Amino acid sequence: MAIKFLLPEDRIPTSWYNVAADLPAPPPPPLHPGTLQPAGPGDLAPLFPMGLIMQEMSAEPTIEIPDEVREIYRLWRPTPLLRAARWEKVLGTPAKIYFKYEGVSPAGSHKPNTAVAQAWYNKQEGITKLTTETGAGQWGSALSLACNLMGMECLVYMVKVSYFQKPYRRSMIRVWGAEVIPSPSDTTASGRAILAQDPDSMGSLGIAISEAVEVAAHRDDTHYSLGSVLNHVLLHQTVIGQEAIEQMELADAYPDFVVGCVGGGSNFAGIAFPFLGQNIKKGKKTRLIAVEPAACPSMTKGVYCFDYGDTAKLTPLVKMDTLGHDFIPPGIHAGGLRYHGMAPMLSHAFHLGLVEAESVMQTEAFSAGVSFARSEGIIPAPESNHALAMVSKLAEECKQSGDAKTILFNLSGHGHFDMAAYDNYLDGKLEDYAYPEEKIKEAMKNLPKV
Ligand SMILES: *Cc1c(COP(=O)(O)O)cnc(C)c1O
Repeated sequence: MAIKFLLPEDRIPTSWYNVAADLPAPPPPPLHPGTLQPAGPGDLAPLFPMGLIMQEMSAEPTIEIPDEVREIYRLWRPTPLLRAARWEKVLGTPAKIYFKYEGVSPAGSHKPNTAVAQAWYNKQEGITKLTTETGAGQWGSALSLACNLMGMECLVYMVKVSYFQKPYRRSMIRVWGAEVIPSPSDTTASGRAILAQDPDSMGSLGIAISEAVEVAAHRDDTHYSLGSVLNHVLLHQTVIGQEAIEQMELADAYPDFVVGCVGGGSNFAGIAFPFLGQNIKKGKKTRLIAVEPAACPSMTKGVYCFDYGDTAKLTPLVKMDTLGHDFIPPGIHAGGLRYHGMAPMLSHAFHLGLVEAESVMQTEAFSAGVSFARSEGIIPAPESNHALAMVSKLAEECKQSGDAKTILFNLSGHGHFDMAAYDNYLDGKLEDYAYPEEKIKEAMKNLPKV
């Protein structure tokens, strides 16, 4: 029995898959934050290049991947698909468990798949610098890598708590030539406003986004780049699922379940949307399960409505599952899963009943991650551990029922820069926390009236 299913370099997909073309209805368009009217391409132009804005609104079923982007993808793509046969034994399950491993990219996660594409489209339109935010540091490192490969400058606002807790992600950003500033900072009006209220603020993704957007909006040579949530980001990540479909064929198998963790929704959509396309077009019945932390439950407990993407309300409003734009996340260890909203395209597919959502506690997540590391060797990112926790629940159900189901999950990245979180878990210091209903109700009062 083979364990690894590898594709040759010339099997890197030649186009991205746009699920919007296959959904029964398109998701509602974004709204302008000032007028609350549908935002047109021109409204997004101060922040994004037209090439990406067109993808954001596209109804084309496929979008060709530029040659130069595919050439850079060759540095780590196609990524391997593996059968977790040793973990299956440890779990004592008849289920067949496969995983797609995105941790082989230079930044150690799926994020460079979109970072490289975004930098390329910006460069085509004469943009020389990108700004962005980063929470745990994965996105900041991915974008600095991409800008470096494209010969562009990059400025990263890093959530202050991570800036100090994750010094090595910060170092990676600097090695790839970008500037990194802890957020909130005094370099922007949004940052100064937060510091005036709370000089000790440790920041949030929402605040860091406001800072990065503000800088980009004020300069002609600078654009803003987002690592998840937006349609074009999810689109770029579909290389994962397209490769996986081919690799599952090599394995002579087809998944009953596709599982991924969700922060803003991009790695899950990246693996799941191509399979959703097969469900819609070929009548396949794969169950697609998005897994989020109980501490940041935007899909399982949030409200589906129009909300801002950031704390200072500078971004367009999008219809999404949200905990409210003023959400300040509890200090859980899956830093990449702490955004207040969920990708509009994924929220839309969820409310159409085409994908499912589950939440797990962080100790469950780490327990699954350690069990996986001890059988398969790879130490998963804390974010990915949420997917693993769900997979081990499904494997247990198969054990109870005796059903040998096929499970595929996305191992979105490795955890080599998150070892402090593993130490906390192994020392029994990780606490479970479910985001309280009252806080969600409270935040809903501040939602824009649309
Ligand atoms: C950023 C990140 C996530 C969460 O972001 P999505 O957009 O939901 O994919 C998950 N896993 C890893 C390793 C990450 O870096």
